[in-house]
Amino acid sequence: MDLPTRDAYNSLNLLIDISRELVSALDLATVLQRVLSRSLEIVEANSASIIILNEHEEPVDAAIIVNGEVHEGSVERLKSTLDSGLAGWVVQHRQSVLVNDTSKDPRWTQRGYEGEYQEEAKSSLCAPLIARDQLVGVITFTHYTPDHYDQSHMELVEAIAAWSAIAALNAQLYEASQRRADVMSTLAETAAAVTSTLDFDEVLNRILEQTSQALEVEAVLLGLVDKKSNEVVLQAVWGEDPPREEGHRLNMDQGVAGWVAKHGQTVIIPDVSQDKYYSIDQNLNKNFELRAIAASPIKAEGQVVGVLQAVNPRTEFSSDDILLLNGISSLAGTAIQHARLFNEIQLAHTRYRQLFEDNIDLIFLSDWEGRILEANREAIEFSLFSREELRSMRMYHLGIVDWNEVGINFEALNSGDRLTYEAAFQPKFGATRPVVVHVHQVTIEDQSGLQWIVRDITELKKLERMREDLTSMIYHDLRSPLANVVSGLDLIKSMVPEEYGVGSVASIAERSVNRVQRLVSSLLDTSRLQSGQKILNPTPVIVQIIVSEAVETVKPVAEASNFVLKVTMPEEPVTLIADVDMIRRVMINILENALKYSSQGRRIDVDARVENEMLYFSVKDEGRGISEQDQKIIFERYMRADLTASKAKGLGLGLAFSKLAVESHGGEIWVESELGQGSVFTFKIPLVTET
Ligand code: ADP
Repeated sequence: MDLPTRDAYNSLNLLIDISRELVSALDLATVLQRVLSRSLEIVEANSASIIILNEHEEPVDAAIIVNGEVHEGSVERLKSTLDSGLAGWVVQHRQSVLVNDTSKDPRWTQRGYEGEYQEEAKSSLCAPLIARDQLVGVITFTHYTPDHYDQSHMELVEAIAAWSAIAALNAQLYEASQRRADVMSTLAETAAAVTSTLDFDEVLNRILEQTSQALEVEAVLLGLVDKKSNEVVLQAVWGEDPPREEGHRLNMDQGVAGWVAKHGQTVIIPDVSQDKYYSIDQNLNKNFELRAIAASPIKAEGQVVGVLQAVNPRTEFSSDDILLLNGISSLAGTAIQHARLFNEIQLAHTRYRQLFEDNIDLIFLSDWEGRILEANREAIEFSLFSREELRSMRMYHLGIVDWNEVGINFEALNSGDRLTYEAAFQPKFGATRPVVVHVHQVTIEDQSGLQWIVRDITELKKLERMREDLTSMIYHDLRSPLANVVSGLDLIKSMVPEEYGVGSVASIAERSVNRVQRLVSSLLDTSRLQSGQKILNPTPVIVQIIVSEAVETVKPVAEASNFVLKVTMPEEPVTLIADVDMIRRVMINILENALKYSSQGRRIDVDARVENEMLYFSVKDEGRGISEQDQKIIFERYMRADLTASKAKGLGLGLAFSKLAVESHGGEIWVESELGQGSVFTFKIPLVTET
């Protein structure tokens, strides 16, 4: 047989042509076909095939030309030769092969597409496509007669293979970078879409929309982790007839979503029917045929906050799909976190606004120049100014800035202290209204300002006036008739001879009237001292005298109940300058209490002494004592210790009055006691009260 005529010139031309193809076309299928058809003639082949492999040596692209005809669907047809034929051997050994007679070579498998020629002996050349040490395919040329090829053919084919390998690798790299670019631009789009809103529901919707578009799946599910119940709650669902409804809950050990939420890792299940590892919850929408799932954790600040699931891709999940899903999930984490925070801020803002608006007090916010920035509903209603009018005014226009209190330029408020004072509020129309003003510094939205809380005390003032009226009524209408009764009783005692026995009855009546008189005076003093008035008329008195008077007053009661009264006093007379009547009443109060809260026949020690120009007066009893808790309240008005247990009658006014009276003299009153162990009440006042 003649050797085929080939010359170097032709070969070189072919290679130049091929390299031109390589740089001009980047679509792999086109490149392959062109390489093959260009090579056929020069290699002197009747048929040729080229198979491109991926990194797992699986065929991804192929081209076949038989007798000048290009065959479609080549990948499937070439699988057998790759599995068990000559190409397979070449791929495995990474070596080119020259077969002189295919009918005698076991590596040769018959191929359907060779039709009638398949039985006959042929010659074949097969070379691996290797570029940058990476196997990217295999190329085969066949001639219908055996022994057609020699070493020079082989070398030519090897050269073609080397060039083709580069072409294939380039095209693959180009495709990969194209795909990567697609992924990146999809993610960029997703990022723009998802982060352009802070509305929580809208963020979720956009995540679903972007996932469904990017992955082309039948359904997308987004679940968020509920930390309290440790469940994944399906928060948003996309799809025509999705596998689950919104609101569905899965615990952390349930289903794919549960697993992903618990482990924080992406899971892909290409075929649900084959899957044994993840327990797929069968409790799905009956109309939905679940085929494949990809689920990715949504993380925020390192914690899994949810799961994004894509269900049923058009064909199968590619590595790009997973890249996209993971990318969208991580965007979702930040977007959801931001939307949540924003939501919380909004809520807090609304709550604050509501509190502000609905407050029953008037609230104003002003800057440090007193310009009104905000006023609540009550402030508007009370002031009769509109919101706009108020915003153009300053606080002092309302008559409630007491410059003595707040200081020039509000400097008394710099320290952050709250000031409280009374003022006369000037509304837009009509008379001023009495108010209490609480003002202090606040910081709202990084701005320092002043908050003015103003309480209308018109009603309180009315009550105060009523109390004053009542006081003067008591003073005039009760005191003078009482005095008349006392003098009347005196007169009766002096006029009626002793043998008629009126004296003792009159004395009892006299004592009772005196008690009422003391009570009335104490009531008057209490209200007077409470409104800040000073004691009326300090007069000098000998301490021993007023102590004796006080003791004498309670003596009849003490004797009737067999109390043992022990009195100690300084030997030398001591002068006290005070409101004598008031101090006497304080002493009587303490003495009466000692009798009232002790059992009959017990001992009561009265002690008056002078230390450091102060008079100390104490009464010690062996009565029921007072608990530590009650000791704190008994000096308050109308407070009575152990209210229910106490059978003794009283108003709870005595000690409150005593405290006011002693303090108005610049003194102090206190109790030392233990429940069941008796009590010692002591007060001290300066011997000379300054007025
Ligand atoms: P009143 O005696 O009218 O209730 P007070 O103001 O004098 O009002 O006393 C307040 C409360 O203090 C009394 O109700 C009583 O519980 C308690 N208390 C006062 N003195 C004594 C005392 N010597 N021993 C025990 N409890 C006392």
